[in-house]
Amino acid sequence: MSATIIDGKAVAARIRAEVAEQVARMDQAPGLATVLVGDDPASHIYVSGKHKACAEVGIASIRHDLPAETTEADLLDVIAQLNADPAVSGMIVQLPLPAHIDAARATSAVDPAKDVDGLTPTNAGLLVQGRDGLVPATPSGVMELLRAYDTPLEGAHAVVVGRSDLVGKPVGALLLAENATVTTCHSRTRDLAAVCRGADVLVAAVGRPRLVTGDMVKEGATVIDVGMNRTAEGLAGDVDFESAAARARAITPVPGGVGPMTIAMLLRNTLKAAARGVRRI
Ligand code: NAP
Repeated sequence: MSATIIDGKAVAARIRAEVAEQVARMDQAPGLATVLVGDDPASHIYVSGKHKACAEVGIASIRHDLPAETTEADLLDVIAQLNADPAVSGMIVQLPLPAHIDAARATSAVDPAKDVDGLTPTNAGLLVQGRDGLVPATPSGVMELLRAYDTPLEGAHAVVVGRSDLVGKPVGALLLAENATVTTCHSRTRDLAAVCRGADVLVAAVGRPRLVTGDMVKEGATVIDVGMNRTAEGLAGDVDFESAAARARAITPVPGGVGPMTIAMLLRNTLKAAARGVRRI
């Protein structure tokens, strides 16, 4: 079988164009605020990418880069100011935060109506209940790719490897909402290979380069690789692309699969938050 390569760049470009078109029709441009603490180089690159993407679609962006020694109380103050600022439609607190700050406390302090990362307990709860809220960008991007490539989900067995609050859990909830039968795997799952081999749709969000190999992929499955691992040989996914592509119906590459979707869906979330105004969820 020769797998279809899922083109995340193309799907993301379509979504960004749609967002730009809708922003152009608004009286007031949405605003995205980013809050970054410390000088982690990767985080600086991610945040700059988000601001560049905002500019390209006409979303205003406000950047708060705080020193590494910022206290948790000072960070919570900045978040409270942005919660109260009507020019801010959406806000992200860039992770990871320095160890002296409780990341869950910081992300939970964001007004759920502005929580475009979907990390507040309110939005996480709405997602689990299948109600409308702000859904984390990477999991929404995974679903958008599955839709774009006509992946049958109803009654399908979907296996998600990884159970993080940012990716694995929300992907599982979204697949369940589409009536897939969902299995979530994690570091203590017994015989991961056998579980994965049962998957019609296999989503890997682990953070272990090439953990999922071709022998773990069912013939004809759709494989979505969320992994972004920096290795000595460059960026690697959580899936061994060559061997998995030999068995899959469709598969995402790394880079060029899920990665480009994350920023596109963040822009769409910002638009959604702006369109709702200050309405509380
Ligand atoms: P995370 O918080 O570290 O979670 C990893 C999950 O994988 C955990 O649930 C862990 O299980 C599980 N796991 C670890 N080793 C395992 C093993 N050997 N077998 C089965 N499960 C195992 O990571 P994350 O934030 O979800 O990110 C996952 C990957 O996606 C990373 O490579 C990250 O860089 C990438 N990512 C990409 C994007 C993007 O835009 N493309 C966005 C976000 C994340 P336990 O819960 O039992 O520890």
